[in-house]
Amino acid sequence: MNREEYADFLVKSEHDYKYYENKYPKRNLSEGAMVTRYAPSPTGLVHLGALYTSFISVKMAKQSGGVSFLRIEDTDQKRSIDDGVRKIIEDLAKFDINFDEGVTLEGDKGNYGPYTQSERGDIYKAFVKKLIIEDKAYPCFCSEDDLKHDHDRQAANKERLGYYGIWARCRRLSMDDVIEKVNNGEKYIIRLKSRGNFNHHFKFKDEIKGKMELPENDQDIVILKSDGLPTYHFAHAVDDHLMGTTHVIRGDEWLSSIPVHVQLFEMLDFELPKFAHVSPICIEEDGKKRKLSKRKDPEAAISFYHKKGIPNKGLMLFLETIANSNFEMWMLQNKDSDPDEFKLDFKRMPIGGTLFDYEKLISISKNYISKLKATEVYDMAFEWASLYDKDFASLMEKYKDYTTSIFNIEREQKKPRKDIAYFSEVKDQIWYMYDELFNPSVYEWQKVTGRSEIKNILDTYLNDYYKEDDDKDSWFNHMKEAAVKLGYAGEMREYKDNPDNYKGSIADFSTVVRVALTSKCNTPDLYEIMRLLGKDRIMSRINKVTM
Ligand code: GLU
Repeated sequence: MNREEYADFLVKSEHDYKYYENKYPKRNLSEGAMVTRYAPSPTGLVHLGALYTSFISVKMAKQSGGVSFLRIEDTDQKRSIDDGVRKIIEDLAKFDINFDEGVTLEGDKGNYGPYTQSERGDIYKAFVKKLIIEDKAYPCFCSEDDLKHDHDRQAANKERLGYYGIWARCRRLSMDDVIEKVNNGEKYIIRLKSRGNFNHHFKFKDEIKGKMELPENDQDIVILKSDGLPTYHFAHAVDDHLMGTTHVIRGDEWLSSIPVHVQLFEMLDFELPKFAHVSPICIEEDGKKRKLSKRKDPEAAISFYHKKGIPNKGLMLFLETIANSNFEMWMLQNKDSDPDEFKLDFKRMPIGGTLFDYEKLISISKNYISKLKATEVYDMAFEWASLYDKDFASLMEKYKDYTTSIFNIEREQKKPRKDIAYFSEVKDQIWYMYDELFNPSVYEWQKVTGRSEIKNILDTYLNDYYKEDDDKDSWFNHMKEAAVKLGYAGEMREYKDNPDNYKGSIADFSTVVRVALTSKCNTPDLYEIMRLLGKDRIMSRINKVTM
């Protein structure tokens, strides 16, 4: 048997590797254009870290005029879940994470597919054969017991664990030994015949983490498993080569595999792509930073933000500030620009894990919502309520225009009011605008200066000064006149200069009206509130106050 026949004897493939090299020609890209990928395993719901990494991948490609694609890595079939792929695609699309190529709900898009690893079996086998022909890979017949036996001996002797050097028993089998074993029906996997020396270090530059020196890999890692599927390491090298990936952007848990990956690219004669290992989002526990955990931390789940009613875009802006901390400043300086115009830079990405800053998320979300149109706030708040507070959703729907006008108070102006941070707090902020909900058990009178004469203030104002059709200036003038009539200062300045001359200020006076109408001391613009409530509601609410 020559080596080609030998490779064929060990691994069957329909085509050889040259066929696949020709099938997927080099991409025609302009200078600097990046080809990036997001390569999840369909093992569960999309979590915050996945959203973060996929966002960086897609944005880096887009801003460079390149291509991003979605590859599904399902070679570990035990871990794959039903419907996992659909969920990934749908979840990411909700956050505007859309790929140029790859797996879609309608099938594959692009010329470098199939984009699902379990459909690429023949491709991997073709490249495994290439390595066998070149004596860079070999079959291994070791059983679980053999491996455990060696592992225990290594552990007992305090030696480095693994399948390497003298421990790599099947490396020494001759072709004849192998043929005999195979003919006897012995099961085997294929391992890489590593040429690395663990005591040699090589230089590596990560796009995010910078320069480092790492020991060469000397482990004869498995490349083809007994189920005929490749391991992650091997599949990644073959796929990223054939799919023309220029930048492998992935979580930094893979950094430790770089010696294996660099070696695989070398032994396969593939050009090495650039690597960017993204640091995780962390939380602090017992004074120590640890990676946000899918299992332990509710904040890791996307559903956490959905239930809270944080808009998807708000969450993405937050993730972008984690990715590049200068993004926040850029947003401040470019208030009217589309955030898409901001360019992410690997050099500015955090090298270590970034602490999850909930307060920052809230402030970014609040800022984002404050810039939306009232109709947009209505739509989003209604969508949230339809899922999580159906009664409130019905009320919003019944009074759609009225509700939209409520959202429009102090909005759509240069410095809009920043009050809503997430949609689950909307009802708590505007409930008093609806008669159906306005049944206050508590009025915030305790903070009101003119308490002793609440009734007098309200009657005087309502009967003699409130005019339904007043514009804002006249409304305010009338409020002032009423205040002065009862001995309150019409101007804040006057009150501050001589507080003893007055019962209180115009603000104290108007607060009485505000509390009577809303039960609260702090609300958005009172004139706007009164205009929306209208005369009938105003009269009935004022008359309800019996103090
Ligand atoms: N399938 C791997 C994972 O889900 C992807 C790693 C990569 O992006 O290369 O962790």
